[in-house]
Amino acid sequence: MKKLSMAVASVAIGMLALSGCGQGGTPDAPAEGDGAQSEAPEYTVNEEADFADSKTWKAAKDAGELNIGVKFDQPGLGNVSAGSEDPEGFDIEIAKMVAAELGFSADQIKYTETVSANREPFLQQGNVDMVIATYTINDERKKVVDFAGPYYVAGQDLLVAEDSDIAGPEDLAGKKVCSVDGSTPAQNIKDKYKDAELVTYDAYSKCVTDLQSGSVDAVTTDDAILRGYAQQYEGEFKVVGKPFTEEPYGVGLPKDDQDLRDAVNDALQKGMDDGDWDKAFEYTLGSTDDVDKPEIDRY
Ligand code: GLU
Repeated sequence: MKKLSMAVASVAIGMLALSGCGQGGTPDAPAEGDGAQSEAPEYTVNEEADFADSKTWKAAKDAGELNIGVKFDQPGLGNVSAGSEDPEGFDIEIAKMVAAELGFSADQIKYTETVSANREPFLQQGNVDMVIATYTINDERKKVVDFAGPYYVAGQDLLVAEDSDIAGPEDLAGKKVCSVDGSTPAQNIKDKYKDAELVTYDAYSKCVTDLQSGSVDAVTTDDAILRGYAQQYEGEFKVVGKPFTEEPYGVGLPKDDQDLRDAVNDALQKGMDDGDWDKAFEYTLGSTDDVDKPEIDRY
């Protein structure tokens, strides 16, 4: 059943990807009215929202703008397509859903590009109010930032050429595998698959370019991210499809703003309960039939 759901999700992403590929292989994310499988969800703005005890919320409210760090090069999750200014994807929908519950309309969100390695520093330095960027919750990161969520659980996987024999991380010995600095998949390769030759960049799209030119044998990161690239390069690449870690995605928050963390956890829980989360997922990643919504961890 799991396989089926991934196939369905892939087809859905494929339909979205059919909206076109920009120059240089930059994917177009779902555009309204061109055959995407569902309408762009609208999230009701909570006009009553008052979280003035949160320093971050108060400052954002006073500024009239919530600044959210997101990815710009991950189709289906957080992606700016050629010719467009606004990022699109599941993380972007989660951003809109959470922002609405916190009293910010979609046009009051400012999106700032974050790459994997600058998410903690951006939160620590106050460059962004929150990060929604395929951001795995873990203890190391919790030392310097806080998390609400999780709102989704991905797993580390491999993207390889369609005709590759690589069937899992144990086949990476002596092979070049590409990932991103400051990411959990890169760390996992360093810790557990020492015979693999790890190549890193700041963003996954650069790994994908290397895979296309044949200068690396595999790209590793979360399956949810890799599926987006596999659709972008249909017939060229495949996702191995045997996830070997759990990557619970959280909303990254500045440390020790408990009121903000409670507010975001409540917003995520509300979205999972009232159907908005499902709409967000279906609009961007596909069918939710076999997708389990995670339990919020109010640690
Ligand atoms: N979820 C993993 C992480 O947070 C990999 C994806 C990413 O680098 O954004 O490190």
